[in-house]
Amino acid sequence: MIFASAMRRQVIIIGAGAGGLAAAIRLSAAGFSVTLLERHGHAGGKMRRVQAGPAQISNGPTVLTWRHIAEDLLRQGGALPTDEPLFLPCERLARHAWLDGTQLDLFPDPDESRRAICDAFGQKEAEGFRRYCEAIHFMTDTLRDSFMLAPKPDPVSLARRMGLHNPAALLATRPFSRLASELRSFFNDPRLIQLFGRYATYVGSSPFLAPATLMVISRVEQEGVAIVRGGMPALAGALLAAAERLGTVFRPDTSVRCILTDGGRTTGVQLADGERLSADIVLFNGDAAALSASLLGSAVRKAAPPLPRNRRSLSAITLCAHAQTRGFPLDYHTVLFGNDYADEFNAVFQRRRITAEPTVYICAEDRAGGVPSEKERLFCLINAPADGDLKAPWFDADEYPGWLAGYLGRFGLEVEFSRGATVLTRPEEFAHDFPGAGGALYGAVNHGPFDSFRRPASRSPVRGLYLAGGSAHPGAGVPMALVSGMLAADAICQDTDRAAPG
Ligand SMILES: Cc1cc2nc3c(=O)[nH]c(=O)nc-3n(C[C@H](O)[C@H](O)[C@H](O)COP(=O)(O)OP(=O)(O)OC[C@H]3O[C@@H](n4cnc5c(N)ncnc54)[C@H](O)[C@@H]3O)c2cc1C
Repeated sequence: MIFASAMRRQVIIIGAGAGGLAAAIRLSAAGFSVTLLERHGHAGGKMRRVQAGPAQISNGPTVLTWRHIAEDLLRQGGALPTDEPLFLPCERLARHAWLDGTQLDLFPDPDESRRAICDAFGQKEAEGFRRYCEAIHFMTDTLRDSFMLAPKPDPVSLARRMGLHNPAALLATRPFSRLASELRSFFNDPRLIQLFGRYATYVGSSPFLAPATLMVISRVEQEGVAIVRGGMPALAGALLAAAERLGTVFRPDTSVRCILTDGGRTTGVQLADGERLSADIVLFNGDAAALSASLLGSAVRKAAPPLPRNRRSLSAITLCAHAQTRGFPLDYHTVLFGNDYADEFNAVFQRRRITAEPTVYICAEDRAGGVPSEKERLFCLINAPADGDLKAPWFDADEYPGWLAGYLGRFGLEVEFSRGATVLTRPEEFAHDFPGAGGALYGAVNHGPFDSFRRPASRSPVRGLYLAGGSAHPGAGVPMALVSGMLAADAICQDTDRAAPG
């Protein structure tokens, strides 16, 4: 046992992102005295809104998978709404379109998707999709409990968890082939390889460099995408309510300047205004790279590995707009693909800029309830290099909305962005709001067979300091960040001989 027993242990959680909120719920439920410190004025971290003219628009995650993880946490805190459901199922996973006019909708039901693929791309591709579904099903079943929901393994312990007697299972996770090349064994049409390769970007990586293991992400999506009533920030609000009901004390607008240590173990934190708060345990939910960059003081810089520029995951340029659209039939989730996918990632990861014809993801939030007849809320995202700590001479913020409107017009989508009702967020704003990684939104890239094992685990090398969030194991995305918070809370319970809540 690491800590002396009895009385309520003080835990300070730095950051009220998904990981911090999940940890707050579990630790409060386990009887810890939890204080949740957040430098912004709201809980949710990247789950946030911006004001674009008269409209509040989600400027962060929009695709919620594995909603049962969030539901379980809310239930634990007695904050799962019973009168009006918080989650609505998404009938279509997404609408996809290409510059040549091809369109393809994918559905949670693989048979429905297969029929759509058959109509748009022919029987052979539909058969490839059937084989692809089998492969991702098996792969996800293999990795769900051994990796995605479990404490961080190393390659040996992962093999042991999968069953050493079962090398077929390990090989079926395809860690040694690249996603884009593996997809060629299922599909011939480059547009389908582009579509299914795009899932690598959910963890901020390139499909041309990421291991084929990331095919699991498309299976997770097939298992269902939920629309959160009120957008993802409403989920953050509900998670905070659950934590507070269980006793968590939330302090917004409270920035932590450094993590205090004594004799190599944490003793508390010092706030930006100089106030000191003591705690037995500190859990850091910001980007782990902030620790190695000494942004939380030099005493804890060894708590996480450094994140060199070439290992930063994708950042983004987002445009939130309240605007009227015509032409192209937007869905709730729409993906518009450029012609040269390889160049999109070469541009971002090698040339450190955006390509001429980037893929645009659009979330049309108001379309959950049908097609709006007037102006609607739009969130448009393209991938960008995580160089928010540098000047980007190639980017002109004033020209971008006009350029984007022209580009969308090539897909048949007419939209006019008005200056007063648009909010642009670039890597430099992401870097400012979520410090430590130059605006990288998903921690380190996953570009090799062993990169998944390089993410920091819940327990840091500094005694009493734990990590949770999208830059830690098991990885980025709201459900995985929630899991990381739960794993960190369970590690704390274990290390203090306290039973983790069921
Ligand atoms: C534009 C965008 C689109 C995305 N799309 C999706 C999607 O569709 N689906 C999906 O699942 N995921 C998506 N993601 C990723 C997802 O949002 C993240 O992986 C997840 O929300 C990260 O949660 P986290 O626990 O790491 O905390 P974060 O959201 O990173 O929050 C960390 C918090 O810590 C606080 N903090 C940091 N340092 C300090 C300090 N010193 N003092 C006090 N507070 C501090 C920060 O202010 C912040 O609030 C998207 C992300 C972005 C930005």
